[in-house]
Amino acid sequence: MFDYDLFVIGGGSGGVRAARIAAAEGGAKVALAEESRMGGTCVIRGCVPKKLMVFASEYPDAVADARAYGWDATVGGFDWVKFRTALEAELNRLEGAYRNTLKNAGVEVFDARATLVDAHRVRLADGRDFSAKHILIATGGRPFVPEIPGAELAVTSNEMFHLEALPKRALVVGGGYIASEFACILHGLGVETTQYYRGAQILRGFDDEARGHVSNAMRARGIDIHCGTDVERLEQTAEGIRAVATDGTDREFDLVMYATGRLPNTGGLGLEALGVGIGRKGEVLVDAWSQTAVPSVYAVGDVTDRINLTPVAIREGHAFADTVFRGVPTQADHELVASAVFTQPELGSVGLSEEAARAAGPVEIYTASFRPMKTLFAGRPDKVLMKLVVDGASKRVLGCHIVGPEAGEMIQLAAIAIKMGATKADFDRTVAVHPTMSEELVTMRKPTRVF
Ligand code: NDP
Repeated sequence: MFDYDLFVIGGGSGGVRAARIAAAEGGAKVALAEESRMGGTCVIRGCVPKKLMVFASEYPDAVADARAYGWDATVGGFDWVKFRTALEAELNRLEGAYRNTLKNAGVEVFDARATLVDAHRVRLADGRDFSAKHILIATGGRPFVPEIPGAELAVTSNEMFHLEALPKRALVVGGGYIASEFACILHGLGVETTQYYRGAQILRGFDDEARGHVSNAMRARGIDIHCGTDVERLEQTAEGIRAVATDGTDREFDLVMYATGRLPNTGGLGLEALGVGIGRKGEVLVDAWSQTAVPSVYAVGDVTDRINLTPVAIREGHAFADTVFRGVPTQADHELVASAVFTQPELGSVGLSEEAARAAGPVEIYTASFRPMKTLFAGRPDKVLMKLVVDGASKRVLGCHIVGPEAGEMIQLAAIAIKMGATKADFDRTVAVHPTMSEELVTMRKPTRVF
């Protein structure tokens, strides 16, 4: 007899979903241990507070537009402490909601770090031991800062929500989702913002044309993006933090934020000693069922470093619970996962980039780039990009990339059609909704390029 049918380590998106489904729908006796706050990265120090900061940072533009539309509107100063206090209250509310969900499902929660003792035994930080038929590792990831002299002077996204005050001058290092989003947030909040990225263009992995579109727009707004530039060392000075870069740039900032990727939280869990496979980045190696090399131990979410997105972790956690506790064998589907980068402008993306599709076979590329009605009227130069990547033979839409306001909302809907296998003809026979930005997706008659 085991103490529990399932012991989940980690109370983030994946762990909470798995625990809830196993307990409420699978009838399992479930416990969950979380060493920090319930809700994990997404709710406490990721997607949710980030998006609220994005909203906060968009108001100066909205007020400027309002003026162009005839309103007598002015934007005053931004009260960071007021915003941060409201943000904290919202996160407390959400954390409470997560706890309630678990409680209502009958999951026993331990606010403690847990490690594995053997294939069926978990130990809490206070020394208590529990046995479980199955153990789920859902410990997520953490920001990684490269070892450069002065690295300790930098903050990561974890600290961004707790700053005492907003800096006057900020440097963001990295060119991925987090770096690019925070560069836009800081700029929108009135911070003089510089971004250093070691590669040739930010947002590596996304469609090249879309990346160029985003970075041009960010620059046009006033974000000082330096590509081909990395920090060599950081030094504390009387006035701030001095950043000496590989290209010889030597500048001073009040805040340096590193967003140079994330690493899986597997250290000290006792996994290797048990025979659980660990990959090069420290990720838990799992099969398509999220099962490790030790049959009673499973892992979901960022700790497995597959697609590091909350909705994917949720699907993986749900599929695990369906398979193991509901008798419904299910594998999480990692194909055609749409995502959005909440830069300003946003980038929404699903499927293959033009580059990836061209490497795979003949393609037709359809693009529309235009100034949207709303901001054109307000005299802003912002341009929207709509792009479809179409298979040259079958005419199936292989990818869709949107840069512009609400691109995240639009890509969610385009992703349904693409997931269903829509062809360019299916898009074409869909009547436009007018006047909208997304109508361009169904009115692009001739390919811009054919390969
Ligand atoms: P990413 O992996 O997206 O980007 C890391 C960036 O840091 C890259 O530009 C990378 O450069 C650079 N980098 C890596 N190592 C070094 C180094 N040693 N020195 C200098 N630069 C370096 O990671 P993020 O931290 O931005 O985000 C982590 C994950 O979180 C994402 O992959 C995403 O899955 C998820 N996320 C999703 C969001 C969303 O859906 N909107 C928002 C935020 C995060 P290079 O390109 O050259 O490798």
